[in-house]
Amino acid sequence: MNFAGWREVSMVDYPGKIALTLFTSGCNFDCPYCHNAELKKKVEHTLKEDTVFDFIDYRRRVYDAIVVTGGEPSLYSSELIDFLMRLRESFPEKLLKVDTNGSNPDFIDRLYGIVEFVALDIKALDYSSFSNTSFYTILESLEAVKHFLDYEIRLTMYPPFIKEEDFPKYIKLLEGVKRVAVQQYRPVDSVQPYDMSVLEHFVKMLKPHVQQAYIKF
Ligand code: SF4
Repeated sequence: MNFAGWREVSMVDYPGKIALTLFTSGCNFDCPYCHNAELKKKVEHTLKEDTVFDFIDYRRRVYDAIVVTGGEPSLYSSELIDFLMRLRESFPEKLLKVDTNGSNPDFIDRLYGIVEFVALDIKALDYSSFSNTSFYTILESLEAVKHFLDYEIRLTMYPPFIKEEDFPKYIKLLEGVKRVAVQQYRPVDSVQPYDMSVLEHFVKMLKPHVQQAYIKF
């Protein structure tokens, strides 16, 4: 499988590890705050699979991990699974991680046994204004990621989607999960972000209910 591009060295895409990050293009969501506008639409994937393998092989000692992110990687379902299996066989010592918006729980199930880490976005309690995905599907994805050796649930604190009055509902939803990353929404429209004290308060509310909660910068 080919890719839209890469980040040659990332210290932020796999917690605590040095990673090569690969980007797929195209997304089935239309989040108003998307900062990946250039990857939201499908573009030609000009970065060849064999180039990626040669690159990793040459710098084998540099990387702890390989991360696939988007756009939305699950749109490449079988093709991406084949790529990840080839990575697994060629570089068994590398940690593998995939980021997803949770629209395809079957894809997450298929990653099991191939990748160590899945990061799942939970964007709202109602997805109808920006996708065709039901919240029930997101709940299935949430259950699917819990089987992985490592996983993270990421919440982007866009006030119209994650409302302060709904914080208790999110806490109930996330009860017992391994790691929750709460990240500030970076303004792209007239919607003002929460004050950081609101995020800190939310993390404080989460902490007794999850194994780890933190603000992701
Ligand atoms: S899921 Fe991610 S890539 Fe897709 S529109 Fe939303 S923020 Fe952008």
